[in-house]
Amino acid sequence: MPTPLLLILAVLALLAVAALNAYARPFKPCRRCGGTGRKPTRRPGFLPCRRCHGTGLTQRLGSRTAHRTALTIGAELNQRRRTH
Ligand SMILES: [Zn+2]
Repeated sequence: MPTPLLLILAVLALLAVAALNAYARPFKPCRRCGGTGRKPTRRPGFLPCRRCHGTGLTQRLGSRTAHRTALTIGAELNQRRRTH
């Protein structure tokens, strides 16, 4: 049975792409209201979408983790620059 090395590499590549994507674009249009921030109603007017609180944007899954990781790496690099 061949080693699923390619499969592991593919999964890692996908994760890297997802992390980069989450870092570059931490927000995506809200799915519930379609990015309008408004909840369609039968009555005149509109209600702010409850999912995105009327902003029309929701945070991407993992974007917070990606930013935290980037901050940690940045702090580490800064420390090394200072000590050396
Ligand atoms: Zn919404």
